[in-house]
Amino acid sequence: MDEQGIIIVGAGAAGIGAALECKARGIPYTVLEAANRVGGRAYTATAGLPRAWDHGCHWLHCADVNPLVEWADKLGATYRSQEVARPFQVWDEGAFQDAKGVAAYEDAINRAFEAVETSGRDVPIPDVLPDAGRWTPSVRLILGLMAGDDAEDVSASGYADYRDTDHNWPVLSGYGALITAMAAGLNIRTGVAVRTVEQRSDGATVVTDAGDLEAAGVIVTASTNVLARGAIAFSPGAAADLARALDRVPCGAYEKVAFALDALPDEVAQTRFLSVQRSGQDMATNFQIMPGEAPMMLSHIAGETVRALAAAGPEAMIGHARDALTEAFGPRIMDRVIGTATTSWTTDPLVLGSYSHAVPGAAQLRRDMIAQDTGRVAFAGEAFSPEWQATAHGAYASGRSVAERMAALLS
Ligand SMILES: Cc1cc2nc3c(=O)[nH]c(=O)nc-3n(C[C@H](O)[C@H](O)[C@H](O)COP(=O)(O)OP(=O)(O)OC[C@H]3O[C@@H](n4cnc5c(N)ncnc54)[C@H](O)[C@@H]3O)c2cc1C
Repeated sequence: MDEQGIIIVGAGAAGIGAALECKARGIPYTVLEAANRVGGRAYTATAGLPRAWDHGCHWLHCADVNPLVEWADKLGATYRSQEVARPFQVWDEGAFQDAKGVAAYEDAINRAFEAVETSGRDVPIPDVLPDAGRWTPSVRLILGLMAGDDAEDVSASGYADYRDTDHNWPVLSGYGALITAMAAGLNIRTGVAVRTVEQRSDGATVVTDAGDLEAAGVIVTASTNVLARGAIAFSPGAAADLARALDRVPCGAYEKVAFALDALPDEVAQTRFLSVQRSGQDMATNFQIMPGEAPMMLSHIAGETVRALAAAGPEAMIGHARDALTEAFGPRIMDRVIGTATTSWTTDPLVLGSYSHAVPGAAQLRRDMIAQDTGRVAFAGEAFSPEWQATAHGAYASGRSVAERMAALLS
């Protein structure tokens, strides 16, 4: 192995996982990160609003088996592992629902996920769904948020590769802050964008804004949308072919709109999620309820709806969420709002979307692409996790396992 050892492109959860694996094995490595911060889609914003909030990942999904829970404990991150008695509330047909209405809503959501998880069909998700009746706008929304894009653009069997354990713990101190803390002491250079990776039989030349670097092996962790759009050029070969094929495993669109409030409305103070079904709209508007000294309501919006809003800018995104808020609570709710903010993953040139999914017909391609050996230029990241795709812990585990493979190749 030459002096540079392994070059890891990107300091998100996958790049940090790969770096930790290299460090644990005593293998020389350098992480090159184009942004001026580490974390990628794991980012806890601490300025602008009275309370820190996660722009990207927030829940430790599959928390009972999630390897990042151990990191959270080690680094003193706080999370909530117990669900509240009544986590959901729904506003529909001009009213908040009673317990019976909420139970019917939950049943519709559960039936939809069960249908997706058991269908085994590589077809658009709506093709396998039972009729959700009046809860259809909420089912569409939740599926869109979980898949990161409109359900019709997502393969049902591709989605079902995800091994959900139904334990989802919010990181109260910030998931982004946790991932950033994990990177402490690692050899990471920020503000260095990789432009080209030229592979040879004994390694690769990595062309960056800050000059060329020689590596024995390269692990690329940029998002599938960044790679499929050619932001990093690869010399002809298996890695170049794989990067091109990633347009069939794209990142969808999913953004958040944050409302900081002086107090939560009573109707939702004891719940954690509100789904607002407005008449004439085929997709509900969702709010995550964050109680505490500096309460917040975060609207989560996915798919084509948010692509159009993100292109129009933050005011359009805030307006969309505000319309749902005022319809459910009345215009006076805005008197309680003391700050607003939005995310911008869809337009961020270093991410260009939310997280990945196989398009209908591409479920097997996704599995094959993860198993593929591309030699000394390999790929890691949430999209390369066989059973934890789309998540931070999946990205981390993928980074570690690809670094392990690379270490074996180079030894
Ligand atoms: C709105 C939203 C909500 C989410 N919620 C959750 C959740 O609750 N729980 C969960 O587990 N997951 C969640 N996720 C998904 C999770 O955040 C991601 O799956 C995970 O963080 C991806 O990590 P990664 O390392 O694969 O990619 P990234 O985090 O995208 O890291 C790739 C890095 O590569 C860098 N890069 C790009 N191009 C270059 C280049 N040319 N040169 C050098 N560096 C480059 C980028 O700047 C970035 O830092 C959410 C994501 C979003 C967007």
